[in-house]
Amino acid sequence: MKEVKALDALLEFVFAMAFGVCLIIGVFLWPFFILAVVDLAAYILWNRKLRCPSCGASLESFGLLKNMGKGFNCPSCGEEIFVEPLNAGRDKKDE
Ligand SMILES: [Zn+2]
Repeated sequence: MKEVKALDALLEFVFAMAFGVCLIIGVFLWPFFILAVVDLAAYILWNRKLRCPSCGASLESFGLLKNMGKGFNCPSCGEEIFVEPLNAGRDKKDE
C-alpha cells in the first residue's frame, strides 16, 4: 500500500495557520509580513509533498490527519493510501 506521512500533513496545516496569524499581526507590526511570506513558501512546499503517490492529485492535510494510522482512498483515482502516524518512527526506536 502507498503511504504518506501524517507529520507532513500536520506541518502543512501549521504553516497555513501560521500564515494567517502572521498576516493579521502584520497589519500592526510590519515585520510579521516577512514571516507570513516565509510561512506561505513553506506551505506551498509542503503542499507539493502532499500528493497522491499514484495520480499526483493534491491531498487535503486536514483530511489526512483525520485518517491518521488508517488507510483512505484517494478522492481522485481511488488508490488506497496509508497515513503513517506521527509516532511511527519513535515506536520503532523504543522496541
Ligand atoms: Zn490518486
